[in-house]
Amino acid sequence: METKAFQAESKKLLDMMIHSIYTHKEIFLRELISNASDAIDKLYFKSLTDDSVGLNKEDFFIRLDLNKTQRTITITDNGIGMTEEELEKNLGTIANSGSLQFKTDNKLGEEQQIIGQFGVGFYSAFMVAKKVSVFSRAFGTEQAHVWQSEGVDGYTVQETGDFSDLTKHGTKIVLELMDDADEENYSEFLEDYRIQYLVKKYSDYIRFPIQMEVSHRKLKEGTTDEYDMEYTLETLNSQVPLWKKNQNELTEDEYNAFYQEKFNDYMPPMAHKHVHNEGTVSYDALLYIPSKAPFNYYTREYEKGLQLYTNGVLIMEKCADLLPDYYSFVKGLVDSEDLSLNISRELLQHDRQLKLIAKSIEKTIHNELSRMLKNDREKYEKFFDAFGTQIKYGICSDYGMHKDELSDLLLFWSSHEEKLVTLAEYVERMPEDQKDIYYAAGNSLAQIKALPQTEAVLAKGYEILYFTIPVDEFAVKNMMTFKDKNFKSVTAADLDLNTEEEKKALEEKNEENKNLFETMQKALEGKVQKVALSSRLKSYPVCLASEGDLTLEMEKTLNAMPTPDGNKVQAKLVLELNPEHPVFQKLTALDNSETIEKYAKLLYNQALLMENMPIENPAEFSSLICELM
Ligand code: ADP
Repeated sequence: METKAFQAESKKLLDMMIHSIYTHKEIFLRELISNASDAIDKLYFKSLTDDSVGLNKEDFFIRLDLNKTQRTITITDNGIGMTEEELEKNLGTIANSGSLQFKTDNKLGEEQQIIGQFGVGFYSAFMVAKKVSVFSRAFGTEQAHVWQSEGVDGYTVQETGDFSDLTKHGTKIVLELMDDADEENYSEFLEDYRIQYLVKKYSDYIRFPIQMEVSHRKLKEGTTDEYDMEYTLETLNSQVPLWKKNQNELTEDEYNAFYQEKFNDYMPPMAHKHVHNEGTVSYDALLYIPSKAPFNYYTREYEKGLQLYTNGVLIMEKCADLLPDYYSFVKGLVDSEDLSLNISRELLQHDRQLKLIAKSIEKTIHNELSRMLKNDREKYEKFFDAFGTQIKYGICSDYGMHKDELSDLLLFWSSHEEKLVTLAEYVERMPEDQKDIYYAAGNSLAQIKALPQTEAVLAKGYEILYFTIPVDEFAVKNMMTFKDKNFKSVTAADLDLNTEEEKKALEEKNEENKNLFETMQKALEGKVQKVALSSRLKSYPVCLASEGDLTLEMEKTLNAMPTPDGNKVQAKLVLELNPEHPVFQKLTALDNSETIEKYAKLLYNQALLMENMPIENPAEFSSLICELM
């Protein structure tokens, strides 16, 4: 018989399992029971929508058998089972996202942590077994197959006549336990009480009965110290799903363990919310915020959605309609009696009940986040670090339709003590004479702080929000206002920080130097609209300001995106000069228009460099400097 090789990644994981020195090897049982339960779920769901299955909820079971002489544990389920191809595909390769995540995260290195904190699924059997046999017969087929492996060397799959006395379809997994060693005692897994304890601990909520023959000592009749062994088939789990339980019956650990197992995360969640909702729609929900963004979160591969149950039956693994995009990071499940089981995916989208649930969930998430922002700022900042960008995208989406719900959740870096602030905090402490909310955009805090345009605003005692990622500026453009205050870039041409008198003085000075500015503007034709004096500069000689909605930062971002026609946008720029700076005095003293033009180019390029923008002709710039020096 042919021995097949494991796929490379599977082999790596398997090897890790076999040589594991992990102290909680007991989790293998949880993993196998959870697989059995999933397999039953699949068949049970089918039975609800397809009468020909002919099975009721009471017909399903998971059965555990311990055999001390053969040192085996057998786990049988009468679920959907696997065909030969499925045995190959499912057990010879790892496809589940959790394991893939392990791949990219294994810089963590700590095998212990990886195994312990998120389930590694079926392969965990190899932590305790030297040989694993998976007998399976897919529902509706005649032939059973057995998959067998003794470790990394490979596996076999073949037909088998020996399936199970307990059921005609499903899966029977036989584990041959490893031998006990100095440090390791595997025999404990052959003791009833140990298995009973483990089922209670890890698998109590499984919705199908987990049965086992449990031995009891019974006093032999007519004696006082002799016993007979009696065996009774017992159900070891309470079968109440976690989310149906009362909040005060559950511990933080139980919530976290459930999350990590169900959603394959090796880290506990940042927060959870358990909802029992009654009213226009009744549902139970368990919602989680992961503590960090999944590795593929900001890619197209990431799929949002909550598990959807009706009456405890899983009907959809990822129901996308339950979550708006801006909360796509939320994991969890919803269980509602109000949904029809037979509903198809297409119809579900239009289901009124589902829409109501989605609305209610959205509100819950918003409330939870607001509460965290208010009561646990540190945690919220961590949350925002992981998922804040998504919320900003949310503000930009659907033509800014969600800005009212989302603007309260935003945080931005600010010149005020250089920390993250909310917009409400900003507005709250605005001085009376300040009209607008100021911001400055750039690549990094350091670069923004060095922007000449920030000087005058800060000198006025006004706070500036620092926008370090492109979406920041687009988000405020979409909001337009917050609490009736406009957002204004410190690079806006109409910044308007002056008193009427100052404005007048500046206007006069501009008028006086009209010819100079016209000459300069001509030298910069196609680059700037205008050259003018400005009062926003303190120590720098020159800067660029933008007229209209498009700022230089936005121009940079938009032009970096591919467009079908290759068209580029261009901000309307003003080259602003500092009238108090010696450079300006020097300019006014020039009478040769050729020299003025050279100065104009030099100053323009200098301003670009300060904005972290590329200059068009570095060679020309360099020779201009040399010449003028
Ligand atoms: P996961 O359960 O996270 O997908 P596993 O490694 O635990 O990963 O299992 C791999 C796959 O093998 C499962 O997705 C399932 O398709 C199949 N499988 C495992 N156990 C059973 C079972 N008892 N009955 C039917 N299919 C099973």
